[in-house]
Amino acid sequence: MTGLLRRILPLAVLSFLALLAAIPPVSAQDGSSAQPSTGTTIHVVQRDETLFGIAMRYGTTVEAIAAANGISDPRYITVGQRLLIPNARFDVPGAPVTHIVAPGDTLDTLAARYHTTSEQIATTNRITNPARLFVGQELTIHQGASGDISAPVPGLYRVQPGDNLLRLALRTGLPWGVLARANGLPALGPLFAGQAIWIPGASASPRDLPAPILELTITPTPPVQGQTMAVHVITRSPVEITGSFVGYPLQFASQQENHYTALFGIHAFTEPGVHPLALTLTGSDGQQTQLTFPVGVADGNYGTEQISLDTQQQDLLSPQVTEPEWERVAQTMSVFTPQRYFEGLMGLPSTGAITSQFGTRRGYNGGVLSTFHSGTDFGGAPGSPVTAPAAGVVVLAEALPVRGNATIIDHGWGVFTGYWHQAEIYVRVGDVVVPGQVIGTVGSTGRSTGPHLHWEMWVGGVQVDPMQWVQQAFP
Ligand SMILES: [Zn+2]
Repeated sequence: MTGLLRRILPLAVLSFLALLAAIPPVSAQDGSSAQPSTGTTIHVVQRDETLFGIAMRYGTTVEAIAAANGISDPRYITVGQRLLIPNARFDVPGAPVTHIVAPGDTLDTLAARYHTTSEQIATTNRITNPARLFVGQELTIHQGASGDISAPVPGLYRVQPGDNLLRLALRTGLPWGVLARANGLPALGPLFAGQAIWIPGASASPRDLPAPILELTITPTPPVQGQTMAVHVITRSPVEITGSFVGYPLQFASQQENHYTALFGIHAFTEPGVHPLALTLTGSDGQQTQLTFPVGVADGNYGTEQISLDTQQQDLLSPQVTEPEWERVAQTMSVFTPQRYFEGLMGLPSTGAITSQFGTRRGYNGGVLSTFHSGTDFGGAPGSPVTAPAAGVVVLAEALPVRGNATIIDHGWGVFTGYWHQAEIYVRVGDVVVPGQVIGTVGSTGRSTGPHLHWEMWVGGVQVDPMQWVQQAFP
């Protein structure tokens, strides 16, 4: 799903015309102070793009791209075509960049950061209600439309109780007259707690986040249905954080002073779309700060399949068999251990080929698609090794009617992995495992249609795609 982040937005024809009208074309040799970047850039042609638009975007010319790619007629490029962009620049005034909205981004902070105006961002992206910006939203922004893009970005400061312009001037080292002018304030006018003040020349992140928060990130952005989302908060001083998302609590943990992380499993059946994320921070003095911001959840684009089971296997589908086992597994995998064992990327638990992915909507014997595949299946010769993908503590190791010979590892911070249908189990409850340790062998025990390893992951009491953890490390 990280491909989504790198996706380059197609240029809407309308915004492109607006760009042409507003900004004089800039060539790569215009002598601006922006630094040219080096290295090879490949651009994949998107719908509605022209070679002229692409050239402008990277601060180069149609002729240069045509020459580098052996294009004889620049009118004809095809969607999906890969173009080598010689001497690409990413800091061209007026060139559109794709910005993915982060917590604390507003039209004003984005305008300051990209040296443009909130009106221009709103027009380009057809935003009628600025309050509706959501985390994960992709915006096209023409940077530099209102000035020199090499100028420092102003920082945003939220006025605290007791602040005044003179005190702020002392703290920032800027003359109070400069602060007043930058914010359109009367020279000795009062300031109000919570008021936003732009600090010219500050290198701070120009985002609108309340006082105790220095940094707030959502990983990945946008978060995806059926995947793990991390909320990472850095504060000025120690706080307690509680929160919720799509109706479920966020459980924060910390292993570094003033750094807090909540890992949240987004259920595979969560409606894609915008959901509010709410946080409450309580300082050691008891002062509370609350914030709520909308976060967009992307569709997991999962497939569908029908599974046929014979009569004997169907007996194992009866609720009297499945329910108690489900309860047991769900309880075991929904605990929160404050100690964190995992570190960095996870490994794969099997060298077998992946035969079924997480999230596929499933029906049995032609029935409705009421369930989904809750893990990743690896095909493999019976007896081939099952390895621990990360450090943790074994919390279940026994034969279950549906899941067969099963092992569950607690990796800490609400992260659990499960290994079903094994031929043999080599570990016991309480064992501490290290990454790569052989914990069992592939088999076909329990409700299984052939030898395979079903690898399952739970985060915050919800089944999520384990393969995300092989590709992405969490803070
Ligand atoms: Zn499976």
